[in-house]
Amino acid sequence: MNNYSPKLLWLNNSGLGCLLNLLLLAILLVSVGLGWVVNGFLILLGVILITPVIGLWVLRWWVQRNLVEDQCPVCSYEFTGFNGVESSCPNCGETLQVKNGKFQRITPPGTIDVEVVDVSVKQLDDPD
Ligand SMILES: [Zn+2]
Repeated sequence: MNNYSPKLLWLNNSGLGCLLNLLLLAILLVSVGLGWVVNGFLILLGVILITPVIGLWVLRWWVQRNLVEDQCPVCSYEFTGFNGVESSCPNCGETLQVKNGKFQRITPPGTIDVEVVDVSVKQLDDPD
């Protein structure tokens, strides 16, 4: 009664047929003794898939190692900065440096004032 052969319809499905052909080719290669070709291809495919994952993992590790989250020594505003990179506080604008995982002011407070006082005292005491 049914004129359409189910086998013919199944073969017309190109996607499944292509997959079956690849599988048959793989079995043929293994049986012939070229298993290393398939293995090499699988290893290459694995390397291609794994390399970006490892790269991303290393990048994440590096970022976590160099990313410093601390409070600003001037206004206690908490923000993140990179290790060894000068950054300015987004709240008060103070230029800060990361040292031992902590934010530090590049110019310690009071240093310039003390120097100026010393120079002016010396000039006043000069006998000339
Ligand atoms: Zn600040």
